[in-house]
Amino acid sequence: MTPLINLVRQLVAINSINPAMNSGPGEAEVAQWATSWLRARGIDCKLQEAAPGRPNVIARVVGRGEAPALLLNAHLDTVAVEGMDTPFILRVEGDRLYGRGAYDMKGSAAIMLSLAEHFVASPPPGDIWLTLVSDEEDFSIGSDAIVRDWLPTLQSQPTAALVLEPTEEGIGIAHKGFGWYEMEVRGRAAHGSLPDEGLDAIAPLGAVLGTLLALEKQFAAGPTHPLLGRPSLHASVISGGSGWSVYPAEAQLRWERRTLPSESQSDLQAEMERVLAAARTVNGADVTGHCAFARDPLGTSSEAPLVSALQRAVPEAPLVGLPFWTDGALFSAAGLSTVIYGPMGHGAHAIDEWVSLSSLERVREAVRQVIEAGAF
Ligand SMILES: [Zn+2]
Repeated sequence: MTPLINLVRQLVAINSINPAMNSGPGEAEVAQWATSWLRARGIDCKLQEAAPGRPNVIARVVGRGEAPALLLNAHLDTVAVEGMDTPFILRVEGDRLYGRGAYDMKGSAAIMLSLAEHFVASPPPGDIWLTLVSDEEDFSIGSDAIVRDWLPTLQSQPTAALVLEPTEEGIGIAHKGFGWYEMEVRGRAAHGSLPDEGLDAIAPLGAVLGTLLALEKQFAAGPTHPLLGRPSLHASVISGGSGWSVYPAEAQLRWERRTLPSESQSDLQAEMERVLAAARTVNGADVTGHCAFARDPLGTSSEAPLVSALQRAVPEAPLVGLPFWTDGALFSAAGLSTVIYGPMGHGAHAIDEWVSLSSLERVREAVRQVIEAGAF
């Protein structure tokens, strides 16, 4: 088997900063490299364009047809490198591999390539689908395209997905979702001396902020998720008005809501309506609002076969909830039983990013055992 460290080194060496971050080059070069590497080992793979110049690598290691297929996922993009001296040169210090993306998450992509090489020589019970995707660090167009355009074309669906984001070797079965809400109030501009002509567009935001605060208090006192705690929200951006002596003609407020797996879309819709209704009681200004962007939470049963399979491979690993959102929610929403499980390290999105080599090797071995067992 190719030493894992060399794979991490080669992946880190290719700049794949997300184009949303200081106009990074994106994933095309690293995806091409991974494709060539896989093909050189006789592994069937293809590129899927999630958007022009933003490819996903999809590869299949053919199994013996004795177990369902498992989907593995890692993202190929990284965040920016400002402040790092040699971000694309892997530096080894003891057990630590330093470099941009080593931890988040080219170390995990290296595990996937290494497992593909292992299993192509010794076919596993079921097929393994490798998905190395673009754009996780921005809008997840890569995994979105996998779920929307590619999964439905498969004759036999994978039953489970393992997303190898770093979890410090905890078995991640839950994380929150989020919603970005925005509202706009339209009043009527007039000089401050003309109260009968002006309609204050900012005043209704007072009622909105009061309602958001009341909701936040309700969350603090309400039921919690055993791994994720409570839902939350906060005001994000507020704007409006034009001058001291002018009735403001318009005002906007944005807020973010972090959601639990137990909260339904209709709960969230009702909450939005409650906020808008509060604004509409104030002075008759025109109030509109909508959810601009939202992502589902992840809530996989602790009894799911993939969870049990991982627990058999690593009995000491705790079940954990993750503080961050992952592409896992997209696979879960598509019906795959989804678990997040990855290595230990430090400094995702920071200048001192490193991943533990021994942890990468433990994760690879655990995933190898799970694939070998074929029960998920
Ligand atoms: Zn990541």
